Amino acid sequence: MSDQTELAEAMRSIVEAKNVFTDARSVGVFSRDAFYYSPVLREQLGDKLADVVVAPQTLEELQKVVRYAAQHHIPLTPRGAGTGNYGQCVPLQGGLVVTMHKMNRILGFDTATGVMRVEAGTRMGQLERLGREAGWELKCYPSTWATATIGGFIGGGFGGVGSIRHGVIWDDYLKSVTVMEMTPEARLYRLEGQDVAGFIHAYAQSGLIVELEVNLAPLVGWEEAVICLPDYGQALRLGHLLATDAGLDKRLIAMCEWPIPRFFSPLAQAGGVLEGNALMLLELGQGSTPQVAEQAAAFGGRLTYTAPAEQYHKGKFCLSDFSWNHTTLWALKDDPGWTYLQSRFDPDPEAAIRQCAVLRAFHGEKLALHHEYFLQSGTLGLAALDLIYYQTEAEVYAATAKREELGIHVADPHSFYLDSDPRWGGEAVLRAKARYNPHNLLNPGKLRAEPLLDNSRVW
Ligand code: FAD
Repeated sequence: MSDQTELAEAMRSIVEAKNVFTDARSVGVFSRDAFYYSPVLREQLGDKLADVVVAPQTLEELQKVVRYAAQHHIPLTPRGAGTGNYGQCVPLQGGLVVTMHKMNRILGFDTATGVMRVEAGTRMGQLERLGREAGWELKCYPSTWATATIGGFIGGGFGGVGSIRHGVIWDDYLKSVTVMEMTPEARLYRLEGQDVAGFIHAYAQSGLIVELEVNLAPLVGWEEAVICLPDYGQALRLGHLLATDAGLDKRLIAMCEWPIPRFFSPLAQAGGVLEGNALMLLELGQGSTPQVAEQAAAFGGRLTYTAPAEQYHKGKFCLSDFSWNHTTLWALKDDPGWTYLQSRFDPDPEAAIRQCAVLRAFHGEKLALHHEYFLQSGTLGLAALDLIYYQTEAEVYAATAKREELGIHVADPHSFYLDSDPRWGGEAVLRAKARYNPHNLLNPGKLRAEPLLDNSRVW
């Protein structure tokens, strides 16, 4: 009996046979995420496959799967919806991919405090919808909210819609996580306060999250607006003005340079795009669009699209479908030659405009700028997910080096290593890993700091 057959049989003794996958198509799908946005990762990760994919439906099933894997030293890679961009849930060393999407129960919702207790495979869209029905909303969510899971967002994400209001996933987003240790005992631990940090953006290195308590924020009625501006610098100036206006409620402030708006076909069909113009995607507190349109006019901006608060999340599309890394997706649909970088420009618009000018001179037409204003620890940031038209690793890293030279810090979206991302939790992750994943069986190969891990030193 082959190792794969034996493993599949063991899994079938734990979960229903229909929840164990060994066929090439399913194994291929569940072994990948959205790493194809990177020409570098396409080369490196295209052939990495799980031996067996398993979809537990209950905590008890998951516990048995973990026990078996730990007893037999089988690598186990947890997967949410597989929308991560850096191969975060690609199994580098085969073994099991455990897809969490069937562990999607709402376990409790305190509508007085806005704390929702959910299983890790629950979709972000479900949290937002249930929250809104009870007068609450997610503090922030990725533009993949319809499919992405909360476990995957915490395990591999950063922030998104709402980050301009409430910050990112490190900003009091969670009340607690419940983690299953990757040992033959598969014990459960509920952690809160500072202990949660080791599990945020950790690519499952520090433990398998099974439940979370998510802190929601009081609901706001959001209306959507698109402003088109002939000049991208003016879009950055207006974006900064709105981002720093304490009296204005906002959930999204995204700026896209031409030709990016051309890629947003549904928005173009709705009349929201002006040929040759930059574009701003806005989610604003109910009733504030007329005032913002007036402010935009002073920057040469024109309101081209609005959707009322009653239509929020109900229309054929929502503006967040074009924001954050969805912007890159629309570009790739138009021309797969595009890829992107992820970085932080100077939030001061005049400084950012100077950085943009140097990059324009460096890249010429192979650059299309895209920025998002956000808060982290209460400080304003200007995230860039700028498009670059490059295919080779050398070109991508020359573009990265140019940004670093300008003081623009890059979170490399062309690397699957957790510790090549400046946002990783360092010591907090290593400490948690030593405790809850002591044999390095969870998603192994994603941490270059691994050889440095000395349990006696860090714990
Ligand atoms: P997955 O990709 O399945 O997993 C992500 C990581 O978490 C993996 O390392 C996985 O092993 C780990 N993980 C999954 N479940 C668990 C668990 N239960 N316990 C421990 N670890 C676990 N990201 C943003 O932050 N903001 C955005 O706005 C955004 N926009 C995007 C737009 C597009 C078009 C795409 C393709 C991606 C975007 N992303 C964005 C990246 C990604 O969609 C999000 O981070 C998303 O929340 C990941 O959720 P997921 O369920 O797909 O996680």
